[in-house]
Amino acid sequence: MVEKDTPADGNMADATPTAVQSPAAPSSSQYSKHIVLTTYPGQSGIDPVPLSWGAKDAQARGPVIVSRSNALLKRRNAMGAHGGSYSIYNALAIAAGDLEPDFRPDFRNSEPTFNFAWQAAWADKTKIVSMDPYGHDIVNQFREQLDAGWDIRPTMAVTRANMKLAEIGEAVRDGKLDVDGTIVVNSGGDVRVTKVAVEPVWYLPGVADRFGVDEGTLRRTLFEHTGGSYPELITRPDLKVFLPPIGGLTVYIFGPPERVSDENVKLALRIHDECNGSDVFQSDICTCRPYLAFGIREAIREAQNGGSGVVIYFRKEGRALGEVIKYLVYNARKRGGDTADKYFTRTENIAGVRDMRFQALMPDILHWLGIKKIDRMLSMSNMKHDAIVQSGIPIIERVPIPEDMIPDDSRVEIDAKINAGYFTTGRQYTTEELAEVRGRGWEKWEDITH
Ligand SMILES: [Zn+2]
Repeated sequence: MVEKDTPADGNMADATPTAVQSPAAPSSSQYSKHIVLTTYPGQSGIDPVPLSWGAKDAQARGPVIVSRSNALLKRRNAMGAHGGSYSIYNALAIAAGDLEPDFRPDFRNSEPTFNFAWQAAWADKTKIVSMDPYGHDIVNQFREQLDAGWDIRPTMAVTRANMKLAEIGEAVRDGKLDVDGTIVVNSGGDVRVTKVAVEPVWYLPGVADRFGVDEGTLRRTLFEHTGGSYPELITRPDLKVFLPPIGGLTVYIFGPPERVSDENVKLALRIHDECNGSDVFQSDICTCRPYLAFGIREAIREAQNGGSGVVIYFRKEGRALGEVIKYLVYNARKRGGDTADKYFTRTENIAGVRDMRFQALMPDILHWLGIKKIDRMLSMSNMKHDAIVQSGIPIIERVPIPEDMIPDDSRVEIDAKINAGYFTTGRQYTTEELAEVRGRGWEKWEDITH
């Protein structure tokens, strides 16, 4: 043993990081026999690289370092791991021997296709708490440290693409969208888009603030309910930044990206939370894909009119409850008489709550983009509306999904939401009427399976 063994009892003032003998030492020699379970402030050699969230620029703020490799274990200034939920696949690749544990990426030519202008919010620790505002510009901002071998990774990337959506092709054919040659590039409905991918980087005091809890409660809850996976949430109160193992978001920008932050032109925005079954596979039990397609069409139209169109896609599958819970709820709905008056109760019975998306962190990306007002908000959700307005961005007009885009079987979902206070310019149903809004049963399916 190289390091002195120390008990994990918190009394670590002058000890080395908490280490135990590995119960199942890897057959390869890529790790030492000591496993460092956690660290403590004031321990020998613990010296986090300064990280001052909300500082005036990237240099003053400092790089986010989560790596535990070699000397960085004592110098890391953030908890968790890069890649969000994909951090586990990274570990698998190392376990399988496909990837060296100390691999350092070669970032040549990976820089953004568009340089987003610095915004005052990037230096405001209350406006951005759930992403690293310099996460796209690591190579540029921390070149010296990267050259010195520090493991610093981008948590954002900016690229461009052509996209093709069936509904956009139809809109072009039906004369509802023009071919302008730069945004909609041809009669097939090919669309040029700038994309920004963002992985979550949480500044814990700011996240706690948004949820109205104290930081200690947030840390303890995150620790307990990730199976104790991140002990430094408890032992390192000096570390304020956490990269959680969850999905991030993607921004789709139609038209010139510099227009997004231009107050003098109109902005159309859709905030869309993932629904794989509808978004990709077009299951008709909800309005997700139709609303997404409508949002994209309106965003393109705004850009064609000289404004800007933005669609932001959050990886929050099934109201952030996940697909397993979503399908359990579908079954409970279909077997229990699928009526709109019972829509939310069915979810609460199984998940305990009706929604875990918590829009409180969502507006961060809007502030990062420099959005100052939203002319057309392509959403009926009050949670999204209120979170954006409370964060200081006014919404001028709210645009519900057109009636003719709502699939028959999804009336249960949309009417229940409208009754619960979702914004609509159309009719709001009473509770009695909701009991009459009924989804399709499984009768035909039973015929097939019997
Ligand atoms: Zn859906």
